[in-house]
Amino acid sequence: MRNIKYIVVHCTDTLSNAEVKAIQKYWKEHLKWKNPGYHYIIKANGEVEKLLDEKKPSNGVLGFNENCINICYIGGRTKDKKRVNTMTRAQENSLFDKIVALTEKYPGAEVKGHYEFPNQGGRICPNFNVKEWIKNYVPDLDQPDLD
Ligand SMILES: [Zn+2]
Repeated sequence: MRNIKYIVVHCTDTLSNAEVKAIQKYWKEHLKWKNPGYHYIIKANGEVEKLLDEKKPSNGVLGFNENCINICYIGGRTKDKKRVNTMTRAQENSLFDKIVALTEKYPGAEVKGHYEFPNQGGRICPNFNVKEWIKNYVPDLDQPDLD
């Protein structure tokens, strides 16, 4: 069993409409990674796609991956190339739910933004303050089915 010490939030540093397939292709062909960058990726519509079993390390945080679960939202860049929080409400809800589920599964783990780790090449990923966001976040209540 891996010792999970960190649940780490990332962004893809792309526009919100980037395709998961294109991101995976970049990892494989450009970065030559054997494993994906993240365990979970969250699309603009809030859909969470699992890319790797939690038992295996992904490539999110150089030097720390053995102890990380990496979660990423697609986005982080605007059309004029600004690095900001571009999360949709659906992404925020899914990210929050995922973090809650993972902190229940790994009770000792600390939730961090990628930028909080040393020697990450000056990254500000996921382009917002994760601890502030969690503290202030008010999740939507589940909507009842209308049919
Ligand atoms: Zn990152």
